[in-house]
Amino acid sequence: MIGTGACQNNNYKIVLINGLTMGTTYSIKIKTADAVVNQEKIRADIEKILLEINQKMSTYIVDSELSVINFSNSLDSNLISDDLFKVISHANTISKTTNGAFDITVGPLVNLWGFGPNKSENKIPSNEEIELIKKNIGYKKIYLNKETTSIKKLHPDLYVDLSGIAKGFAVDKIALYLNSYNLENYLVEIGGELIAKGTNEDNEVWQIGIENPNNNLVKIIGLKDIAMATSGDYRNYFEKNGVRYSHTINPNTGKPIKHKLASVTVLDKTAMNADALATAFMVLGPAKTIELANELKIGVYLIIKNDENFYEEYNEYFEPFISK
Ligand code: ADP
Ligand code: MG
Repeated sequence: MIGTGACQNNNYKIVLINGLTMGTTYSIKIKTADAVVNQEKIRADIEKILLEINQKMSTYIVDSELSVINFSNSLDSNLISDDLFKVISHANTISKTTNGAFDITVGPLVNLWGFGPNKSENKIPSNEEIELIKKNIGYKKIYLNKETTSIKKLHPDLYVDLSGIAKGFAVDKIALYLNSYNLENYLVEIGGELIAKGTNEDNEVWQIGIENPNNNLVKIIGLKDIAMATSGDYRNYFEKNGVRYSHTINPNTGKPIKHKLASVTVLDKTAMNADALATAFMVLGPAKTIELANELKIGVYLIIKNDENFYEEYNEYFEPFISK
Protein backbone atom coordinates (compact mmCIF):
# COMPACT_ATOMS: atom_id res chain seq x y z
CA MET A 1 0.00 0.00 0.00
CA ILE A 2 1.62 3.17 -1.17
CA GLY A 3 -0.20 6.43 -1.47
CA THR A 4 0.74 9.70 -3.01
CA GLY A 5 -1.47 12.71 -3.06
CA ALA A 6 -1.53 16.44 -3.02
CA CYS A 7 -3.82 19.18 -1.87
CA GLN A 8 -3.81 22.90 -2.35
CA ASN A 9 -4.07 25.50 0.43
CA ASN A 10 -2.86 29.10 0.88
CA ASN A 11 -0.92 28.82 -2.38
CA TYR A 12 0.99 25.96 -0.90
CA LYS A 13 0.87 22.46 -2.14
CA ILE A 14 0.92 19.61 0.37
CA VAL A 15 2.49 16.45 -0.95
CA LEU A 16 1.47 13.30 0.91
CA ILE A 17 3.48 10.13 0.70
CA ASN A 18 2.63 7.05 2.74
CA GLY A 19 3.06 3.31 2.81
CA LEU A 20 4.35 0.40 4.83
CA THR A 21 7.85 -0.15 6.17
CA MET A 22 9.57 -1.83 9.15
CA GLY A 23 6.42 -3.69 10.14
CA THR A 24 4.49 -0.46 10.48
CA THR A 25 3.19 2.50 8.49
CA TYR A 26 4.96 5.63 7.39
CA SER A 27 3.59 8.98 6.42
CA ILE A 28 5.31 12.04 5.00
CA LYS A 29 3.76 15.44 4.46
CA ILE A 30 5.67 18.07 2.57
CA LYS A 31 4.49 21.64 2.19
CA THR A 32 5.91 23.33 -0.83
CA ALA A 33 5.17 26.48 -2.78
CA ASP A 34 7.15 25.04 -5.63
CA ALA A 35 4.75 23.68 -8.24
CA VAL A 36 7.51 21.84 -10.04
CA VAL A 37 8.47 19.62 -7.13
CA ASN A 38 8.62 16.18 -8.64
CA GLN A 39 6.36 14.16 -6.40
CA GLU A 40 6.93 10.86 -8.12
CA LYS A 41 10.69 11.19 -7.90
CA ILE A 42 10.55 12.11 -4.21
CA ARG A 43 8.27 9.16 -3.52
CA ALA A 44 10.54 6.76 -5.42
CA ASP A 45 13.66 8.11 -3.68
CA ILE A 46 12.09 7.76 -0.23
CA GLU A 47 11.01 4.20 -0.99
CA LYS A 48 14.56 3.45 -2.04
CA ILE A 49 16.00 4.98 1.15
CA LEU A 50 13.66 2.83 3.26
CA LEU A 51 14.41 -0.35 1.32
CA GLU A 52 18.14 0.25 1.68
CA ILE A 53 17.87 0.85 5.44
CA ASN A 54 15.84 -2.35 5.85
CA GLN A 55 18.32 -4.33 3.80
CA LYS A 56 21.03 -3.15 6.18
CA MET A 57 19.31 -3.22 9.58
CA SER A 58 16.30 -5.51 9.62
CA THR A 59 16.32 -8.65 11.74
CA TYR A 60 13.23 -9.71 9.79
CA ILE A 61 15.17 -9.99 6.51
CA VAL A 62 17.34 -13.11 6.68
CA ASP A 63 19.99 -11.80 4.28
CA SER A 64 20.16 -8.23 5.61
CA GLU A 65 23.64 -6.94 6.41
CA LEU A 66 22.81 -7.23 10.12
CA SER A 67 21.25 -10.71 9.88
CA VAL A 68 24.36 -12.10 8.19
CA ILE A 69 26.42 -10.91 11.16
CA ASN A 70 23.80 -12.11 13.66
CA PHE A 71 23.71 -15.62 12.19
CA SER A 72 27.49 -15.95 12.12
CA ASN A 73 29.37 -17.25 15.17
CA SER A 74 32.66 -15.81 13.99
CA LEU A 75 34.67 -13.56 16.29
CA ASP A 76 36.44 -11.94 13.31
CA SER A 77 36.09 -8.27 12.44
CA ASN A 78 33.46 -7.44 9.81
CA LEU A 79 33.54 -4.35 7.67
CA ILE A 80 30.08 -2.80 7.76
CA SER A 81 28.28 0.00 5.94
CA ASP A 82 28.53 3.54 7.32
CA ASP A 83 24.81 3.59 8.16
CA LEU A 84 24.90 0.34 10.11
CA PHE A 85 28.03 1.47 11.93
CA LYS A 86 26.45 4.80 12.79
CA VAL A 87 23.30 3.24 14.25
CA ILE A 88 25.11 0.57 16.28
CA SER A 89 27.62 3.03 17.64
CA HIS A 90 24.87 5.52 18.49
CA ALA A 91 22.90 2.75 20.20
CA ASN A 92 25.93 2.02 22.38
CA THR A 93 26.20 5.69 23.31
CA ILE A 94 22.56 5.63 24.43
CA SER A 95 23.29 2.45 26.39
CA LYS A 96 25.99 4.31 28.31
CA THR A 97 23.74 7.35 28.88
CA THR A 98 20.93 5.13 30.20
CA ASN A 99 23.12 2.85 32.26
CA GLY A 100 22.33 -0.13 30.04
CA ALA A 101 18.54 0.30 29.98
CA PHE A 102 18.75 0.57 26.18
CA ASP A 103 20.69 -2.39 24.86
CA ILE A 104 20.53 -3.64 21.27
CA THR A 105 21.97 -7.00 22.29
CA VAL A 106 18.69 -7.93 24.04
CA GLY A 107 17.57 -9.54 20.74
CA PRO A 108 17.80 -13.15 21.98
CA LEU A 109 15.62 -12.23 24.97
CA VAL A 110 13.13 -10.44 22.69
CA ASN A 111 13.00 -13.65 20.67
CA LEU A 112 12.79 -15.85 23.77
CA TRP A 113 9.72 -13.95 24.91
CA GLY A 114 8.20 -14.42 21.46
CA PHE A 115 8.37 -10.83 20.15
CA GLY A 116 11.10 -11.15 17.54
CA PRO A 117 11.16 -12.16 13.85
CA ASN A 118 10.51 -15.85 14.59
CA LYS A 119 7.38 -14.83 16.42
CA SER A 120 6.20 -17.90 18.27
CA GLU A 121 3.26 -18.51 20.48
CA ASN A 122 3.92 -16.28 23.47
CA LYS A 123 5.15 -18.46 26.27
CA ILE A 124 6.70 -17.59 29.59
CA PRO A 125 10.29 -18.84 29.64
CA SER A 126 11.80 -20.41 32.75
CA ASN A 127 14.35 -18.55 34.86
CA GLU A 128 16.99 -21.08 33.74
CA GLU A 129 16.32 -20.29 30.07
CA ILE A 130 16.53 -16.57 30.82
CA GLU A 131 19.79 -16.86 32.75
CA LEU A 132 21.34 -18.98 30.02
CA ILE A 133 20.47 -16.44 27.32
CA LYS A 134 21.53 -13.50 29.49
CA LYS A 135 25.13 -14.73 29.15
CA ASN A 136 25.08 -13.55 25.50
CA ILE A 137 23.62 -10.15 26.36
CA GLY A 138 25.46 -6.88 26.91
CA TYR A 139 26.31 -3.97 24.65
CA LYS A 140 29.92 -4.11 25.83
CA LYS A 141 30.23 -7.41 23.95
CA ILE A 142 30.19 -5.42 20.70
CA TYR A 143 33.56 -4.07 19.62
CA LEU A 144 33.44 -1.23 17.11
CA ASN A 145 36.42 0.15 15.23
CA LYS A 146 35.73 3.63 13.91
CA GLU A 147 38.81 3.81 11.67
CA THR A 148 37.84 0.73 9.70
CA THR A 149 34.03 0.98 10.31
CA SER A 150 34.08 -2.62 11.43
CA ILE A 151 32.32 -4.62 14.10
CA LYS A 152 33.57 -7.58 16.05
CA LYS A 153 31.54 -9.85 18.29
CA LEU A 154 33.15 -10.54 21.64
CA HIS A 155 30.77 -13.46 22.14
CA PRO A 156 29.88 -15.92 19.36
CA ASP A 157 26.14 -15.87 20.13
CA LEU A 158 25.83 -12.09 20.21
CA TYR A 159 22.73 -10.97 18.31
CA VAL A 160 21.88 -7.34 17.59
CA ASP A 161 18.29 -6.05 17.36
CA LEU A 162 17.91 -2.50 16.05
CA SER A 163 14.08 -2.40 16.24
CA GLY A 164 14.23 0.19 19.02
CA ILE A 165 16.32 2.69 17.04
CA ALA A 166 16.14 1.99 13.28
CA LYS A 167 12.82 3.74 12.74
CA GLY A 168 14.24 6.93 14.23
CA PHE A 169 17.34 6.65 12.08
CA ALA A 170 15.17 6.26 8.97
CA VAL A 171 13.12 9.35 9.91
CA ASP A 172 16.31 11.42 10.22
CA LYS A 173 17.65 10.08 6.95
CA ILE A 174 14.49 11.03 5.07
CA ALA A 175 14.61 14.49 6.67
CA LEU A 176 18.19 14.91 5.42
CA TYR A 177 17.09 13.87 1.96
CA LEU A 178 14.26 16.47 1.98
CA ASN A 179 16.68 19.15 3.22
CA SER A 180 18.93 18.38 0.27
CA TYR A 181 16.02 19.44 -2.00
CA ASN A 182 15.66 22.67 0.00
CA LEU A 183 12.30 21.50 1.30
CA GLU A 184 11.88 23.29 4.60
CA ASN A 185 8.39 22.41 5.76
CA TYR A 186 7.59 18.79 6.37
CA LEU A 187 6.50 16.11 8.78
CA VAL A 188 8.14 12.69 8.48
CA GLU A 189 6.69 9.87 10.56
CA ILE A 190 7.42 6.13 10.79
CA GLY A 191 5.36 4.12 13.28
CA GLY A 192 4.91 7.06 15.64
CA GLU A 193 8.53 8.27 15.56
CA LEU A 194 8.67 11.59 13.77
CA ILE A 195 10.43 14.80 12.92
CA ALA A 196 8.70 18.10 12.19
CA LYS A 197 10.32 20.92 10.30
CA GLY A 198 8.97 24.41 9.56
CA THR A 199 5.21 24.86 9.39
CA ASN A 200 2.09 23.06 8.15
CA GLU A 201 -0.53 23.92 5.49
CA ASP A 202 -2.05 26.58 7.78
CA ASN A 203 1.37 28.14 8.37
CA GLU A 204 1.30 26.91 11.93
CA VAL A 205 3.67 24.59 13.70
CA TRP A 206 2.86 20.93 13.05
CA GLN A 207 0.22 19.60 15.46
CA ILE A 208 0.62 16.06 16.78
CA GLY A 209 -1.80 14.22 19.06
CA ILE A 210 -0.73 11.90 21.86
CA GLU A 211 -3.42 9.38 22.70
CA ASN A 212 -4.34 8.85 26.32
CA PRO A 213 -5.36 5.21 26.88
CA ASN A 214 -7.63 6.38 29.68
CA ASN A 215 -10.31 8.33 27.96
CA ASN A 216 -9.30 8.56 24.30
CA LEU A 217 -8.52 12.20 24.89
CA VAL A 218 -5.72 13.49 22.78
CA LYS A 219 -3.04 15.87 23.95
CA ILE A 220 -2.02 18.22 21.16
CA ILE A 221 1.66 19.01 20.82
CA GLY A 222 2.98 21.76 18.54
CA LEU A 223 6.29 20.81 16.98
CA LYS A 224 8.77 22.78 14.93
CA ASP A 225 12.29 21.69 14.03
CA ILE A 226 12.28 18.90 16.56
CA ALA A 227 11.87 15.13 16.68
CA MET A 228 9.44 13.16 18.82
CA ALA A 229 9.16 9.46 19.68
CA THR A 230 6.70 7.52 21.78
CA SER A 231 7.10 4.12 23.41
CA GLY A 232 4.19 2.42 25.05
CA ASP A 233 3.43 -0.92 26.57
CA TYR A 234 -0.30 -0.84 25.80
CA ARG A 235 0.12 -1.55 22.09
CA ASN A 236 2.58 -4.40 21.63
CA TYR A 237 2.15 -6.92 24.43
CA PHE A 238 0.68 -10.31 25.16
CA GLU A 239 -1.51 -11.28 28.03
CA LYS A 240 -1.38 -14.55 29.94
CA ASN A 241 -3.30 -15.34 33.13
CA GLY A 242 -4.26 -11.71 33.48
CA VAL A 243 -0.66 -10.45 33.28
CA ARG A 244 0.51 -8.19 30.47
CA TYR A 245 3.93 -8.88 29.01
CA SER A 246 5.47 -5.95 27.16
CA HIS A 247 7.80 -6.18 24.15
CA THR A 248 10.27 -3.95 25.99
CA ILE A 249 12.81 -6.04 27.86
CA ASN A 250 14.71 -4.95 30.94
CA PRO A 251 18.26 -6.08 30.06
CA ASN A 252 19.02 -6.33 33.76
CA THR A 253 16.33 -8.87 34.64
CA GLY A 254 15.97 -10.43 31.19
CA LYS A 255 12.22 -9.99 31.56
CA PRO A 256 9.60 -7.68 30.06
CA ILE A 257 9.27 -4.43 31.96
CA LYS A 258 6.73 -4.35 34.74
CA HIS A 259 5.86 -1.01 36.19
CA LYS A 260 3.41 1.79 36.09
CA LEU A 261 4.69 3.62 33.04
CA ALA A 262 2.16 3.12 30.23
CA SER A 263 3.87 5.34 27.67
CA VAL A 264 6.61 7.88 27.31
CA THR A 265 6.98 10.56 24.66
CA VAL A 266 10.40 12.10 24.12
CA LEU A 267 11.40 15.29 22.31
CA ASP A 268 14.95 15.57 21.02
CA LYS A 269 16.95 16.99 18.12
CA THR A 270 17.09 13.71 16.22
CA ALA A 271 14.46 11.03 15.85
CA MET A 272 17.14 8.38 16.35
CA ASN A 273 17.91 9.75 19.80
CA ALA A 274 14.26 10.23 20.73
CA ASP A 275 13.38 6.71 19.53
CA ALA A 276 16.09 4.94 21.53
CA LEU A 277 15.58 7.09 24.61
CA ALA A 278 11.83 6.40 24.59
CA THR A 279 12.52 2.66 24.77
CA ALA A 280 15.17 3.20 27.47
CA PHE A 281 12.78 5.33 29.54
CA MET A 282 10.19 2.56 29.42
CA VAL A 283 12.79 0.33 31.07
CA LEU A 284 13.83 2.97 33.62
CA GLY A 285 10.31 3.76 34.83
CA PRO A 286 8.74 7.12 35.76
CA ALA A 287 11.01 8.51 38.49
CA LYS A 288 14.33 7.76 36.79
CA THR A 289 12.94 8.97 33.46
CA ILE A 290 12.13 12.41 34.82
CA GLU A 291 15.50 12.59 36.56
CA LEU A 292 17.53 11.61 33.48
CA ALA A 293 15.45 13.71 31.06
CA ASN A 294 16.03 16.78 33.25
CA GLU A 295 19.72 16.03 33.36
CA LEU A 296 19.78 15.72 29.55
CA LYS A 297 17.49 18.79 29.25
CA ILE A 298 15.03 17.03 26.98
CA GLY A 299 11.25 17.07 27.09
CA VAL A 300 9.35 14.00 28.27
CA TYR A 301 5.64 13.33 28.66
CA LEU A 302 4.60 10.26 30.62
CA ILE A 303 1.33 8.43 30.97
CA ILE A 304 1.37 6.53 34.24
CA LYS A 305 -1.05 3.90 35.51
CA ASN A 306 -2.47 3.97 38.97
CA ASP A 307 -5.01 1.47 40.24
CA GLU A 308 -7.89 2.27 37.95
CA ASN A 309 -6.75 5.11 35.79
CA PHE A 310 -3.94 6.78 33.98
CA TYR A 311 -2.45 10.15 34.82
CA GLU A 312 0.06 12.34 33.02
CA GLU A 313 3.35 13.85 34.06
CA TYR A 314 5.74 16.01 32.07
CA ASN A 315 8.82 18.09 32.70
CA GLU A 316 9.66 21.76 32.10
CA TYR A 317 11.33 20.98 28.76
CA PHE A 318 8.13 19.44 27.42
CA GLU A 319 5.67 22.04 28.68
CA PRO A 320 6.29 24.75 26.04
CA PHE A 321 5.22 22.32 23.30
CA ILE A 322 1.76 21.60 24.66
CA SER A 323 -0.92 23.29 22.51
CA LYS A 324 -3.93 21.92 24.38
P1 ADP B 1 8.26 1.23 21.14
O1 ADP B 1 7.58 2.21 20.23
O2 ADP B 1 7.33 0.58 22.14
O3 ADP B 1 9.54 1.74 21.76
P2 ADP B 1 10.00 0.17 19.29
O4 ADP B 1 9.66 -0.66 18.10
O5 ADP B 1 10.55 1.55 19.11
O6 ADP B 1 8.72 0.13 20.17
O7 ADP B 1 11.07 -0.58 20.19
C1 ADP B 1 10.78 -1.80 20.82
C2 ADP B 1 11.62 -2.91 20.22
O8 ADP B 1 12.96 -2.71 20.65
C3 ADP B 1 11.23 -4.29 20.73
O9 ADP B 1 10.28 -4.90 19.88
C4 ADP B 1 12.55 -5.03 20.73
O10 ADP B 1 12.82 -5.54 19.43
C5 ADP B 1 13.55 -3.94 21.03
N1 ADP B 1 13.84 -3.84 22.47
C6 ADP B 1 13.15 -4.34 23.52
N2 ADP B 1 13.72 -4.01 24.68
C7 ADP B 1 14.83 -3.28 24.37
C8 ADP B 1 15.85 -2.64 25.15
N3 ADP B 1 15.86 -2.69 26.47
N4 ADP B 1 16.84 -1.99 24.48
C9 ADP B 1 16.84 -1.92 23.12
N5 ADP B 1 15.91 -2.48 22.34
C10 ADP B 1 14.90 -3.16 22.96
MG1 MG C 1 11.57 3.12 20.23
